[in-house]
Amino acid sequence: MRAGDSEALSRRLVAAVENVAEAIELSDPEGKIVYVNRRWTELTGYTEAEAMGRAASELLRSGGHPADYYAQVEKELRAGRAWRGYLVSARKDGSLLPHTLSVTPLLSAGGELEAIVAVRLDLTEEIAAKQRLRESEERYALASMGANDGLWDWKIPEDEAYFSERWCGIVGIDRQGFFGKAHDWLSLVHPDDLSRLRELIDEHLDLRSPHFESEHRLRHVDGSFRWVQARGLAFRGPDSAAVRFVGSLTDITQRKQAESMLSFAAAHDGLTSLPNRSLFRERVSQALERVKRNPVKRFAVLYLDLDGFKQVNDGLGHHVGDRLLVGVARRLETCVHAMDMVSRLGSDEFGLLLEELDSNEEAAAAAARIERALSMVFEIEGHHVFISGSIGVACSDAESTVEQMLRDADSAMYEVRAGGRRGHHVLDVAARERRERRSRLGEALRRGVEVEGLEVVYQPVVSLVTGQVRGLEALARWNHPVHGAVPPAEFVPLAEELGLIDRLGYQVMREACHRAAQWIHEHSRDQFFVNVNVSARQFRDPHFVERVAEAQATSGLRPGVLGLELTETIFVDRPESVVAMLRELRDIGVRLTLDDFGTGFSSLSHLRRFPVHSVKIDRSFVSAHDTDGIALHIVRAIVALTRALGMVAVAEGVETLDQVAILRGVGCDLGQGWLFSKPVGAHDVSRLLSERFPTQG
Ligand code: C2E
Ligand code: MG
Ligand code: MG
Repeated sequence: MRAGDSEALSRRLVAAVENVAEAIELSDPEGKIVYVNRRWTELTGYTEAEAMGRAASELLRSGGHPADYYAQVEKELRAGRAWRGYLVSARKDGSLLPHTLSVTPLLSAGGELEAIVAVRLDLTEEIAAKQRLRESEERYALASMGANDGLWDWKIPEDEAYFSERWCGIVGIDRQGFFGKAHDWLSLVHPDDLSRLRELIDEHLDLRSPHFESEHRLRHVDGSFRWVQARGLAFRGPDSAAVRFVGSLTDITQRKQAESMLSFAAAHDGLTSLPNRSLFRERVSQALERVKRNPVKRFAVLYLDLDGFKQVNDGLGHHVGDRLLVGVARRLETCVHAMDMVSRLGSDEFGLLLEELDSNEEAAAAAARIERALSMVFEIEGHHVFISGSIGVACSDAESTVEQMLRDADSAMYEVRAGGRRGHHVLDVAARERRERRSRLGEALRRGVEVEGLEVVYQPVVSLVTGQVRGLEALARWNHPVHGAVPPAEFVPLAEELGLIDRLGYQVMREACHRAAQWIHEHSRDQFFVNVNVSARQFRDPHFVERVAEAQATSGLRPGVLGLELTETIFVDRPESVVAMLRELRDIGVRLTLDDFGTGFSSLSHLRRFPVHSVKIDRSFVSAHDTDGIALHIVRAIVALTRALGMVAVAEGVETLDQVAILRGVGCDLGQGWLFSKPVGAHDVSRLLSERFPTQG
């Protein structure tokens, strides 16, 4: 080998050593570094200058191995033998440097140790790869929890998170998994679900829950939200702080949709898709809670009952009936605001919740709006269907319960119906108190009617021309053992509700007939009558006519004395059968009077169609202060009409002589009222019968 050749070779050798992937150091026999290659400086973090003259064992010692480990290596080297092994050293920055070390002694020809070569191969990457493999094996195990589950793996101290391919798939990210941060997940969570999710994570990481499970919504790349279920478990370090948090992610959107469909079906009406009664009650209860906190904003509950729906259903078929209900539902929705609720409570019953009202008048205005909306024709499969509704309105007050609100609205609606009117009625708290009192009175009334019997008082009907008593009206009186006199306006509807009205009615009738026979006999009056009030409900008794005839006959009254006072509500249901009964009554000599005329339908056609003998003009027209205004016109019209039909007009509630003058002026010949006498007990009637009341001032 020539000198030039050997120089070239050693240059090439040095260049090769400089560029190999291993870190190489050369030390003298004392172990002091005399040479390091470039890789060595990269790997250890020391510069060449820092390394020179220092011992590698002291520069790189990590403390990870016991002291005799190094002594062992040295012993081998001194004996001229090479050593190869696994070592964890420390870099200049203190981080650990796992590597394989291979140390070779360079000996002189005489066998003296001249130098030591150490070659170090970094294992960091290899270990990390192994670690990743192990982790991915764990993930694989987790994956077996469900092929459809996404996986996530979060290294907490480093905030390094791995999201699997399927995880990405659930939210529409087209990647085969990626490394990111916890934020990559949390930023997709629906704002309404985020704080709860954070809470659940913290609970588990802080050892307050044994495992983590959360259902929340994640934003898909298409902008929609998917429901997911995340489940996971934390791995903890020696101080039990969570270092790693691993789990699965399942797409539960379909399940949630199915659940919400089920709960929708449970809370909605299938035909109209409107919320049903149970959801309605829930919303009313929430509204009540709100009103308790802030009584300034009120709400109202409306009950709407369709009039004539049964006729549509029976006449045009269920199909048309169904379509009509759907049509009504849609129209109702246009009558309310977005925050309000329209609900179907029963077959043809709807409930409306109106919120954020400033006054009760707003509720009444909404009811009027609904009436108008319903009054327009529904065109259904070639049919022109007209419908109307009765609406009960209950306005909120903080003391109410849900039950009370619903009952109030219901009974307000019932009052519209019972009055035989269409339209709406607003029930106030006072009305509810009245009703509660009614229910307390119920039992006492039952005893009063069934055991003790009610008292009957009589009020004279007087000729406005002669001042003579022409007849009497019998009026029931009931004294509650504790509360005293209860007005008929209160106990009569209660008796109707409790099914006591028939019994009450016949009692009054028998008593009145019996007394009338006596008075006629005593006073030898030929032109005389006694009127008894009957409720519309009494006409539902198929034996009603028989019983009236019986009361008349057993008391020995001749025909033409007993009269019945009816209100127009009897024409609301089953008018045909009612007309037949009225004819039979007329035929046995019972006089029929239409009571409270002017407050109900006041339908002129009723007057023509029914065999009515006389009409009582409602007190409100007679006692109105403006007797020379509209009320007078009405009174005049009613009198003219009844005369034209051959009937008699009777004015109710006559209290002043001025009124008598006006009534006489319009041709009304009979009157009844406090001016002449309040209703009196049977023993005081004889005195009245011989009296002649003044009719002029
Ligand atoms: P109604 O048949 O219209 O009876 C007339 C009502 O007016 C009676 O009230 C009477 O006391 C009252 N009244 C008479 N004159 C005057 C007056 O000048 N001024 C004022 N402010 N009021 C006057 P009452 O006795 O309280 O009866 C109320 C209603 O109860 C009756 O109205 C009637 O519809 C019903 N009612 C009374 N008794 C019976 C009954 O035995 N059966 C049925 N079904 N209803 C009855
Ligand atoms: Mg009457
Ligand atoms: Mg009346």
